[in-house]
Amino acid sequence: MSAELAFNRSVDVDYGVAQEVAPGVRRIVAGNPGPYTFLGTNTYIVGQGTVAVIDPGPLCEKHRAAIARALAGESVSHVLVTHSHRDHCDGARALQEQLGGEIVAFGPTGGPRGAGAPGLGDAFVDPHFVPDRKVVDGETIRAGGFALDVLHMPGHAPDHLCFALVGKRTVFTGDHVMGWNTTVIAPPEGNMADFLASLDRLMQRHDKVFLPAHGGRIQTPQRVVRAYIMHRQWREQTILACLGEGIRTIPRIVEKLYGGLDTELKEAAALSVLAHLDHLIDREFVAREGDLNPLGASYVRTSSKASA
Ligand SMILES: [Zn+2]
Repeated sequence: MSAELAFNRSVDVDYGVAQEVAPGVRRIVAGNPGPYTFLGTNTYIVGQGTVAVIDPGPLCEKHRAAIARALAGESVSHVLVTHSHRDHCDGARALQEQLGGEIVAFGPTGGPRGAGAPGLGDAFVDPHFVPDRKVVDGETIRAGGFALDVLHMPGHAPDHLCFALVGKRTVFTGDHVMGWNTTVIAPPEGNMADFLASLDRLMQRHDKVFLPAHGGRIQTPQRVVRAYIMHRQWREQTILACLGEGIRTIPRIVEKLYGGLDTELKEAAALSVLAHLDHLIDREFVAREGDLNPLGASYVRTSSKASA
């Protein structure tokens, strides 16, 4: 298995300009590039005349003005939010005030939100985000000349939705599957078992195109999903190998696996390792020792399944 996923990072971005990325789908990239957002958040406009906006993006006047410019003379029926991370949902209310549209999302999950690292807590998640209308897996949103099936795909975030454009084999994948990088899985916001189950569900579908919330269009969805799954399996094996070598704490595992990262990304890496360890603990391959903060605890392979 290969350690590196082959990503296409050569995306042409003209900030503030609507580009047609699939028949009947326009994309406007917000000006919020960063270590977690790549070139910025992709806002998609689905339909013509009466449209749905998917992921309004961050609270940013310039971005909102660009969306309004692209939609001159059209009306917004829905503002769909893939998940309540600020780079996706913060602009929802302001956009609605300006252009209308019902805000639709999974809604509050009732579970713990955020992740225990700077940049991944409240600065990252809006724990108070509430849509006008909550939807669940299996619902269909209809407007104008299109329909979108709602797919609940938790893992990156507990409330994460993907939207499948009915009849087009095209899925708006949000942060669940992206074209430029692996997805951050940072507990308790992220859950590895859920993430892998959600990837399996995407594998069962036979889509032609993924339109992610960051990065360019994905033309080989099955290959990318398989690569995501293999990448996680490979990462899990490297963590088990660390434990086998007596490297038993998360900071030491991170040092070994991600030596060159800067501090902030190291904290995200520590949470990603924790997500893997939690998943291994659930399956009884690994045990946590001591009742310290999980980021400070020791981990051991359990003898019964040590050869896994
Ligand atoms: Zn996100």
